[in-house]
Amino acid sequence: MSSVSTVAIIGAGVAGLNCAKTLLAADVAVTVFEKSRGLGGRLATRRLESGTTFDHGAQYFTARDELFRAQVDQWCANEMASLWQGRIVSWNHGMCSELPEKQDRYVGVPTMNSIAKSLAAGLEVRTNVTVKSLRRSDGSWYIEDANGTCHGPYAALISTAPPPQTQFLVGSFSPAISAKITKVTMAPCWAVMVQLHKPLVVPFDAAFVNNSALSWVARNSGKPGRSIAESWVLHASASWSRSHFEESADDIALALIEEFWEATRATPQAPALMLAHRWRYALPEEPLSERYVLDWDCQLGVCGDWCGGPRVEGAYLSGLALAEALLAAT
Ligand SMILES: Cc1cc2nc3c(=O)[nH]c(=O)nc-3n(C[C@H](O)[C@H](O)[C@H](O)COP(=O)(O)OP(=O)(O)OC[C@H]3O[C@@H](n4cnc5c(N)ncnc54)[C@H](O)[C@@H]3O)c2cc1C
Repeated sequence: MSSVSTVAIIGAGVAGLNCAKTLLAADVAVTVFEKSRGLGGRLATRRLESGTTFDHGAQYFTARDELFRAQVDQWCANEMASLWQGRIVSWNHGMCSELPEKQDRYVGVPTMNSIAKSLAAGLEVRTNVTVKSLRRSDGSWYIEDANGTCHGPYAALISTAPPPQTQFLVGSFSPAISAKITKVTMAPCWAVMVQLHKPLVVPFDAAFVNNSALSWVARNSGKPGRSIAESWVLHASASWSRSHFEESADDIALALIEEFWEATRATPQAPALMLAHRWRYALPEEPLSERYVLDWDCQLGVCGDWCGGPRVEGAYLSGLALAEALLAAT
């Protein structure tokens, strides 16, 4: 067992959950704090009252690393994930071309955040708890949440929140960590979820869109295990999202659906439903080269997709690497 006996982790995304799962397997007492109601962070699922679900954050994940590949195989064997066999193309001014690189793309089933639920099995996760501030006293960490409740003591503290949020919480405790965090910027992304009355006739299931306000469109209902009502997820490019960042969600939904008809050349139809979601911190523009940053002097660590490698796979490996570093300390 590690000398670090109790650990608090901020964030129940892939990085936080995998870090927690790895520590728990080594008998460390871990508590995860998550501000949202659900698990998964940006590996997100929006559930409507009608039962329709949308993957409005991460669209799929790939597995290049052996360890992550083994995990994905296990999720697939347990029917928590599945290969997405849709036709994914590059789309440019109405012209379709095949992607240069063939690779397997996976999705959680029946929703993206099934993966997060699987990682969270057996963990103590306190959802709906926003960490507002941290205190270090007599060598231990204490958390104050947005309701004024104090949690602790914990021997070590880990933040997996996106860089600006992590900086706000931990920056003043560790100049070394703070200096690293400020190197990473996160790109925003406006996402629009659209439900249609009729199936759309286009020659793809998803497309990386070029020369458009949109960067990605996907037939959400075409992914394995999703509801059958025709639904699409549209992602705006980082530059468009940045320049329209402060606009209302309704205006964004209208602008991007117009762009969608224009870009896809599909016959427009009145959507049954449209919702826009703004991801303030969607993707790291250039992640740090290291998988985690750990300051032993104050038992403080940070990890996430902005450390070592972007995307779901990067977040998974980052959480694992930080947990292993903590466990290696005797
Ligand atoms: C629009 C979009 C599209 C994407 N597409 C893909 C894709 O196709 N493929 C792919 O692999 N990846 C994709 N990604 C990236 C992928 O979703 C992320 O890399 C991954 O989910 C990051 O996991 P994480 O655990 O590092 O961070 P997060 O998932 O962001 O987890 C951090 C958690 O911390 C919580 N938190 C923050 N502050 C606090 C606080 N003060 N108190 C308590 N909790 C807090 C947050 O609520 C969040 O749940 C996409 C992301 C977005 C947004």
